[in-house]
Amino acid sequence: MLDRVLSNDRGLSEEQRMMAQSCRDFVDEVVIPFIRKNWALEWSMVPEQRLPKEILEGADQVGIRTLGVPEEFGGIELDKATEVRTFAIIAEEIARGDSGLADKLVQNWKVSVLLRQFAPRHLQEKWFPELVNNPQFLMAHCLTEPRGASDRWLPYNVPEAAMQTRAVKADGGWVINGRKQFISNGYDASLYVVYANTNPKVGMLQGTSSFLVPRDTKGFVVARCNETLGCRFMNNGEMVFEDMFVPDDHLLAENDALGKAGVYFRPGKIIQAAKNLGVGVRAFEVTSDYVQNYVQGGKILIKHQAVALRLAEMATKIEAVRALTSRAAEAVDANAPEADALVNMAKYFASEEILKVAQHACELHGGNGMMLDFGVEKLLRDAAIFPHMDGTVDISKFKIVKSLFPQTAGKYAGPE
Ligand SMILES: Cc1cc2nc3c(=O)[nH]c(=O)nc-3n(C[C@H](O)[C@H](O)[C@H](O)COP(=O)(O)OP(=O)(O)OC[C@H]3O[C@@H](n4cnc5c(N)ncnc54)[C@H](O)[C@@H]3O)c2cc1C
Repeated sequence: MLDRVLSNDRGLSEEQRMMAQSCRDFVDEVVIPFIRKNWALEWSMVPEQRLPKEILEGADQVGIRTLGVPEEFGGIELDKATEVRTFAIIAEEIARGDSGLADKLVQNWKVSVLLRQFAPRHLQEKWFPELVNNPQFLMAHCLTEPRGASDRWLPYNVPEAAMQTRAVKADGGWVINGRKQFISNGYDASLYVVYANTNPKVGMLQGTSSFLVPRDTKGFVVARCNETLGCRFMNNGEMVFEDMFVPDDHLLAENDALGKAGVYFRPGKIIQAAKNLGVGVRAFEVTSDYVQNYVQGGKILIKHQAVALRLAEMATKIEAVRALTSRAAEAVDANAPEADALVNMAKYFASEEILKVAQHACELHGGNGMMLDFGVEKLLRDAAIFPHMDGTVDISKFKIVKSLFPQTAGKYAGPE
């Protein structure tokens, strides 16, 4: 029964089912045992030591590391008609094992989708094989700065809201100065997509460009690894660009990069919601196991009605998130006009509902739920990260209303 309530198997193609199953096996046989045994590694303050190389190598072996890379470069190309739905299925399965590991991997998928669309062919020929051949190769997508992040997608298309990171045209390329913060894989990626202002006189939708930046570029500095509350096996970083020169062919999109980033963000928000779902599914699994075995007041916990009610609420929230995420993923695959609104709905709804699921999980574990070595509090910490990733809840809501009512929403915020 448990499987039927929480399984994502229904309606999958044979290929999707097989991928989900091999990913589930990898999580059950490798990831979960590793996390249970090495729970203290999460707290190492040496980022390089947190996740051993074998875990990414294992992900590589089951074929989930290079999704989104074109087949001609050795990647695993999914059926385009259902690509985003497949991303969601696999992201959920990995996050069920560890949400930080899922973060690490999905950045590669999301940036691959961007590169296959906007990078010149000779750079695809260079970087995709590097990614395919090196299981430790990670990519990062750098938008957020100390003075602006997801609010950049609000209707404030004005010069004052532009990125502070500036790229200035030079002979044969661009010189970039600025800094980015809170970047997934920022600490240990090999290849970065960096957004910078290229025209300070216009709104950011007309004056932001994106660049491909290899880690060894002169003037590129990784300033720090952020120590996060959850998803700790992904090393979030901050980087500084000091007179960093990138050649002309590394320009991915000139001036209209924010609009073009939709190819990254639409699947990206589905993947966010799906990872979040994986955390919720794991919370439900460990909790339903606990309440059917742990005896209190002379009975196993589930026989106490208050406990049973919480479990019902957890399952309902998980299914509601799954339904919305799946509907939004279908809309992205179909390039439907409502896709923009739906992906933001799925992303923010998942973050709020799964946080409550994780809270119930901790509550039903009582004191054990607060003990690091028991492992349940980790799910609450991981769930707490999602409201702030890929846009805050409030900004996501703004974006939904802006998609639904483009003529009027947010107009009060600018000049008449
Ligand atoms: C684990 C993690 C991974 C991340 N990975 C990446 C990544 O890979 N790449 C990347 O570019 N970024 C990344 N981010 C950054 C993330 O997208 C931002 O943290 C998020 O968009 C919020 O921006 P901020 O932190 O600057 O918050 P702020 O913008 O400072 O927001 C603070 C509060 O003010 C509200 N607010 C801000 N502006 C407005 C406004 N105009 N109107 C109304 N309310 C407003 C927000 O909703 C929020 O409640 C990551 C963040 C985390 C935590």
